[in-house]
Amino acid sequence: MTTVLVVNSGSSSLKYQLLDDAEQVLASGLVERIGGAGSIRHRGPGGEVTVDADVPDHRAALALMMRTCTEHGPQLAPDVVGHRVVHGGARFSAPVVVDDEVEAAVEELATLAPLHNPPGLLGIRAARATFPGVPQVAVFDTAFHATIPPEASTYAIDAGLAAERGIRRYGFHGTSHEYVSQEAARFLGHAGRFVVLHLGNGASACAVSGGRSVATSMGLTPLEGLVMGTRGGDLDPGALLHLLRTGMSVDEVDTLLNRRSGLAGLTGTGDLRDVLAAAEGGDERAELALDVYAHRIRGYVGAYLAHLGGLDALVFTAGVGENSPEVRARVVEGLGHLGPTLDPARNEARGRGARLVSPDDAAVPVLVVPTDEELQIARHALAVTAG
Ligand code: ADP
Repeated sequence: MTTVLVVNSGSSSLKYQLLDDAEQVLASGLVERIGGAGSIRHRGPGGEVTVDADVPDHRAALALMMRTCTEHGPQLAPDVVGHRVVHGGARFSAPVVVDDEVEAAVEELATLAPLHNPPGLLGIRAARATFPGVPQVAVFDTAFHATIPPEASTYAIDAGLAAERGIRRYGFHGTSHEYVSQEAARFLGHAGRFVVLHLGNGASACAVSGGRSVATSMGLTPLEGLVMGTRGGDLDPGALLHLLRTGMSVDEVDTLLNRRSGLAGLTGTGDLRDVLAAAEGGDERAELALDVYAHRIRGYVGAYLAHLGGLDALVFTAGVGENSPEVRARVVEGLGHLGPTLDPARNEARGRGARLVSPDDAAVPVLVVPTDEELQIARHALAVTAG
């Protein structure tokens, strides 16, 4: 049996999953508060355990994971380790086996993704040290979008400067968009023209044609596009100039864009469940935030329908997309003339796996497809090392 360890490393947390080549999850867990007094939550063959431990760094997090596996199972001897890396820049358009040179390139790309690439790198370094001789595969969030044509990836600014600094649309959530569009194609029996809406804390839309990404809403960074939990998505760049000229520092603007915007900026909370509850209770700010959220999404669906030349399915995924019938209803309401409609009972019904939430005779089917980035990373890691 071949096993794959998938590592998704954040700045102070590390998520892991152990899968076999039959795509069964053998173990999963989360190490939190790396950098001090942390803990591990581990789910293995004997159920779930939580253990507090000192976790000074990412290497200690992996050591804690190993110890927990030894004590509670399963045996941990992965044949390959797959890593989530956020930014692959222009260089990485597919998963790669990590060597020193790849590691250096990922480090260089941290200038484009200062919040996201450094933690990924910490995970890679820790895993290379913990599992010497085991191939490590980097799977990039940007890679699926490498097929976006130049007219959709080019920003209309000074071309020389853009080329020199690598300023273009890269797109993110690619592993999720790829997995979800493949599952949607399997469900429908054909890979047509899909719009996938990944609505989680981060959110992005992707136009997929014949299995390839042809447009996506995130750009150079994960700040562009849809309204998210704490990021506001599209914004006139002139607003930034205005804030900088009227006394805000670059770091303050950074915090505004990454932490004080989106649902959090509009309502005080970035958790969509709380925003829905507040709107239910008559809170006008929450109601406006939901309107802005859905209006933005509908605009992207319309634009992508135009780019794709038609639409064969609208697909919802991630925390909000999978779990909130109300948000799905707010988004699809008013799109009927373009094809997508909902069946209210199907939309409200809870379910597992890919499912149809539109009527059988809808001009454009609407699907809910649960995402599984870990599984997709495992598939890539196995495929790259099998070849
Ligand atoms: P991440 O982007 O961090 O992976 P998720 O995909 O888990 O996040 O999505 C988190 C978001 O999903 C939160 O805003 C949360 O409120 C929302 N969410 C989860 N369950 C529900 C639900 N039942 N109804 C509405 N929103 C939900």
